Amino acid sequence: MDSLLPQKNQPKIRYAKDSLSEKILATHDLVMVLVPDKPAKTLLRQCPRSPELLHQYDQTQSQQPPNWLYLSANKDSGALLLIFVKNAANAFESLQSAAKAWKEASKLSAASIALCTLDLEPAQSNILLNTHLAAILAGSAELPNYKQKKTPSTLKSITLLQGSSADFANTLATHAGNHLARWLTALPPNTLHCESYRHALEQLAQQHGWQAEFITQSALKKHKAGAFLAVSRANAHSHAGIMRLNYRGGSHNNKTAKKITLIGKGICFDTGGINLKSHKSMYDMHTDMQGSAVAVGTLLALTLLKVPVDIECWLALTENEIGPNAYRPQEVITASNGVTIQVVHSDAEGRMVLADTLALAAKHKPNLMIDFATLTGACVGALTERMSGAFSNRSEFRDSIEQAGCISGERVWSFPMDADFDTELESPVADIMQCTHDSKGDHILAARFLNRFVPEHIPWIHIDLSSANKTGGLAHIPTEITGFGVRWAVEFITHHSFN
Ligand SMILES: [Zn+2]
Repeated sequence: MDSLLPQKNQPKIRYAKDSLSEKILATHDLVMVLVPDKPAKTLLRQCPRSPELLHQYDQTQSQQPPNWLYLSANKDSGALLLIFVKNAANAFESLQSAAKAWKEASKLSAASIALCTLDLEPAQSNILLNTHLAAILAGSAELPNYKQKKTPSTLKSITLLQGSSADFANTLATHAGNHLARWLTALPPNTLHCESYRHALEQLAQQHGWQAEFITQSALKKHKAGAFLAVSRANAHSHAGIMRLNYRGGSHNNKTAKKITLIGKGICFDTGGINLKSHKSMYDMHTDMQGSAVAVGTLLALTLLKVPVDIECWLALTENEIGPNAYRPQEVITASNGVTIQVVHSDAEGRMVLADTLALAAKHKPNLMIDFATLTGACVGALTERMSGAFSNRSEFRDSIEQAGCISGERVWSFPMDADFDTELESPVADIMQCTHDSKGDHILAARFLNRFVPEHIPWIHIDLSSANKTGGLAHIPTEITGFGVRWAVEFITHHSFN
């Protein structure tokens, strides 16, 4: 079987200490230069091909201020794109503008590009180069394609001027994680199913030195993980289970190293179960494993960044099928922590598989648990697809959760976690109801439901990925599948102190 992992035809990244010169222009198909919004003419005079630039600039002065100036290639020089950088309000807007600039630049189908700034403070220059690099990488990354005639990306190399590899490590690592998440999510459901997903993850573990353990259905039976097994019961196969991946970034040389556990919902196809979905709401349900892809994408990014903490990934992999064995409304199910659940709707399967995954992962006493799940339509109803919902059993995390969203450009919004919401989930026959009959506040109730499976002493964040799929893309991501969460998580984990 061919590998299900992203192909390795990514552009080569080069670093050069040089700044913009005739030589740089002569040796690249395209040079992208980021300049302040209102350049003095003296600035344009510093550029190679300045007479042409000044001429163009004078012509545009009578009209709207230009977003960019463009000179096409000639016999001595590659093309030159001067991008006037507006003052963005936040990282999201910066990424969005960088994506617009790349959309323009990519029309040239350049094989080699160079990226630099002119007349900007070093700190601002570094941020802008990173933002534009993120947009170029996201915009040129390929997703699975089964056409007989393929049109591969033409971009072969990116030269980063004025910087070293250390300056771009975070952008490159989060890109790799985001691309992995988008790639896996985009695979068709007859290609990516529990069994092939498991093998792809094992292959990835081998490449990156992670320990891998697959908790099979029979092992889950021993753990009395009834909530997970209720969902996997209708599968025609027995390949469902929990993939556990382990990166040791801290404990190999420090016994007191922190451990963070990332958990992901990996429903490889969600029919809705016996409460079958309609045509339109089932159409994209091969992407219902995006939470697990974001968790493993985050693990990849943190591994590439060599963070000095241990990271575990617990990925709940199954389909949610319809069939004679499918779990039904009014069944009472016992989860691995003993909590009994009155089933209401088979399409609320995400919280069922997460319940046991959270409870089992918590037994290993992590210092923090973060779960990612395309969990509720209610969260999309509340936020649209532009942001994702955040919930935590630590109210004091709220500021840093949202701050990580502002800094990374992957914006999250905190919802209440007040205990009185539990009243809505009181069941006459079991400890808790799976969900209510209407979808009112379902994103909050789903988080309160999950809270029953997380011991109070373990700090926990739940991300309801309402921005996992957005038509036209989001920020610098051009595809409908956004891989949202990797940038947020890396920012949160590397900057938040969770002692
Ligand atoms: Zn569902």
